[in-house]
Amino acid sequence: MTKKEISRIKEQLDSPKKIIITTHQLPDGDAMGSSLAFYHYLLQKGHKATVISPSNYPNFLKWLPGNDNVLNYYLDKDLIIKRFDEADMMFCLDYNTPDRAKGLKELVTSFDGIKIVIDHHPDPDDFGDYMLSVVSSSSTAELIFEFITSLGDRGLINKDVAACIYTGILTDTGSFSYGSTSANAHYIAGEMIKAGADNLMIQDHIFQSNTEDRIRLLGYAISEKLKVVKDLNVAYIMLSIEDLEKFNFQQGDTEGLVNHALSINKVSLAVLMTEKTGSVKFSFRSSGKCPANLIAKEHFNGGGHRNAAGGERSGTLQDAETQFLAIILNYKDKLT
Ligand code: 5GP
Ligand code: MN
Repeated sequence: MTKKEISRIKEQLDSPKKIIITTHQLPDGDAMGSSLAFYHYLLQKGHKATVISPSNYPNFLKWLPGNDNVLNYYLDKDLIIKRFDEADMMFCLDYNTPDRAKGLKELVTSFDGIKIVIDHHPDPDDFGDYMLSVVSSSSTAELIFEFITSLGDRGLINKDVAACIYTGILTDTGSFSYGSTSANAHYIAGEMIKAGADNLMIQDHIFQSNTEDRIRLLGYAISEKLKVVKDLNVAYIMLSIEDLEKFNFQQGDTEGLVNHALSINKVSLAVLMTEKTGSVKFSFRSSGKCPANLIAKEHFNGGGHRNAAGGERSGTLQDAETQFLAIILNYKDKLT
């Protein structure tokens, strides 16, 4: 985004507007963190802002300030359509193509106000009037910090904005462990603590608030469902609807599970396959040069980052496993 574009957006934001903030399907900590951070910023600027999610999101994010005002497409469809109609501006945060907004896709595509995309996923579609797309950034939350700063409003990063930005960086860097964890990510996280983000409270909400069922599901998945393809350095876990029901599955319960498979010595690609009605959701994690996003894009209708990607495919878990095992043979040189 050029300085000229920033100043044009700044001009727009200098008078009160109706603004919607949208994010991707099954929002994670960065999607909700960056959206709510920007929401709290816009409120201070005197705008009428609404965060709109295409779906529900994990309970461990529901403490985020502003959570109670988030609209969910499954629950608030009519109100959401009204908000799209009324809005002057739309921010699209943490997604690189309208497809990722799932049920909101048509509304996002046909929106006729000013569209601003802020995101860090590779290969973005050109769907915004303004695009702040930085693939090297650890998180969209990091970009929200940069964006607010470039608008000259760093002073508006209050406790609520800071808690949301901290959450986005913390979750999208895997607690500052992924390759995307830069000095800048640490710097901004530190600045957010100075601005009032209670990092211990945030850690507690995100990592110490498990239900007993979630921990038992984790144990079961690792002990009973983990398969390792030793000669290809691949590990995967398949969970059926029945498995999930046994542990009273709630949105977010399998978040982080695939990382345990990746943590096995020598494993360079880990996959969680989760059965849905009529389809299977894939969650990929890889290390080093193994291009998880390429595998997701070419074979599983998905995409993402090089080391963290996802996709979906219709059919049964069995079909998914068969297809996956056939495909990875073609990536042997990237895996071993
Ligand atoms: P997760 O495994 O945590 O669900 O997703 C990891 C990353 O993969 C996300 O940050 C997102 O970039 C990407 N991703 C997950 N699911 C999909 C999908 O269905 N389509 C695309 N294009 N990307 C996905
Ligand atoms: Mn993100």
